[in-house]
Amino acid sequence: MDFALNDEQKMLIDTVRRFIAEECQPLEDEIEQTGVFDTSKAQALHDKAKSLGLYGMNMPEELGGGGLSNLDRILCEEQFGHTSDIIIRRAFGNVYEPLLHCKGAQIERWLKPAVEGTRTCAITITEPGAGSDAAGIKTTAVKNDKGWVLNGGKHFISDGDWSDFFLVSAKTGEKEISMFMVDKGLAGFTVGKDQKMMGLRGTPHLELFFDNVQVEDAALLGEAGQGFKLAMGALNVVRLAQVGARAVGKASHVCEIMVGWANERKQFNTKIGDFQMVQQMIADSVIEINAARWMVYHAAWMLDQGLDAREQIAMVKVHAAEMLGRVVDRAVQVFGGMGFCKELTIERYYRDARIYRIFDGTSEIHRGVIAKSTLKKGAALFDVNR
Ligand SMILES: Cc1cc2nc3c(=O)[nH]c(=O)nc-3n(C[C@H](O)[C@H](O)[C@H](O)COP(=O)(O)OP(=O)(O)OC[C@H]3O[C@@H](n4cnc5c(N)ncnc54)[C@H](O)[C@@H]3O)c2cc1C
Repeated sequence: MDFALNDEQKMLIDTVRRFIAEECQPLEDEIEQTGVFDTSKAQALHDKAKSLGLYGMNMPEELGGGGLSNLDRILCEEQFGHTSDIIIRRAFGNVYEPLLHCKGAQIERWLKPAVEGTRTCAITITEPGAGSDAAGIKTTAVKNDKGWVLNGGKHFISDGDWSDFFLVSAKTGEKEISMFMVDKGLAGFTVGKDQKMMGLRGTPHLELFFDNVQVEDAALLGEAGQGFKLAMGALNVVRLAQVGARAVGKASHVCEIMVGWANERKQFNTKIGDFQMVQQMIADSVIEINAARWMVYHAAWMLDQGLDAREQIAMVKVHAAEMLGRVVDRAVQVFGGMGFCKELTIERYYRDARIYRIFDGTSEIHRGVIAKSTLKKGAALFDVNR
């Protein structure tokens, strides 16, 4: 068992970390203040990241991506956690793994442009009546001689206005769900209002409406009735990366700021870091961040070995998301009133962290998965030597 990172991995982390510190973090304040990421600045950031080979690093090299292993990708995603969601999207791309199921002409039309960053894609599953119950959707796709006709609506779709096409789940039979790649601009496809959120300022979350939207046969991902399963399977790694690893990065970022404050802020003529109750908050945070990090690395290693890591990723999703919530809550406490005050970034981190327990499957849904598997498989879920 070797826990050491090799020189290439250290260099990769260093490159991403430097790019985030120099190019991304300076943009955060303006986005937070205005609620938008200026289009020309976003494009410039994208172009710079792309020129350094930092866009679409999770995608295979033969498609123009970075060809990183799961573990190397996770190391980068952890660094991404040191900046905000919308900046990550523009700089490094959210190029979703389900697109790797594209075949034939779909590769040139949807997959390659997504990897190159010339077209961006949003994942479009949730509906007002179907969130945790992703199979309970009402959007339908009915076959006709030109392809498929979509009707229905979605909501909470991240980055929906910037996206050029959408990976949309729709019912193609009583108990059958399929995935379609739907281009923006098709007749009957409209983008609704931006649903304002507690945090993640700068990232729009939109309603989408499909009113007799005609798509071609080529828009179907995989076989009818199969694409949804393919997509949900591929979203596992997205969950590990965009929730697990980013939560570890965010918590590390917050912890560093909290420790800095504890070392500087004085009350009763002494640094607050000298008080044992403050030390406990620091110690608990450090313990929990490290535990979550190794869970994330281990799950990524499992994927690289070709092992089924579904349950491990469910555990990561719960633990990393909740760990981030606890760390950022302690940080607010250590900062006292300044932790609640908008003059500093801590209150923003607190708001931004809350969604981690909700999106990509709530903590309750993942706990259900873990418990059911454990009841079935027993010790294999908590004793690696079984
Ligand atoms: C900021 C943001 C960004 C998002 N981005 C996207 C996106 O890009 N694309 C997309 O498709 N979706 C997106 N979503 C949707 C997100 O994935 C859902 O909000 C999430 O899956 C929860 O669904 P829901 O909001 O309908 O809650 P509900 O499913 O209504 O859940 C409400 C409560 O009931 C609990 N609950 C539900 N079922 C069970 C159960 N079986 N057992 C125990 N408890 C249960 C939940 O855990 C939760 O506490 C986004 C949401 C937000 C807020």
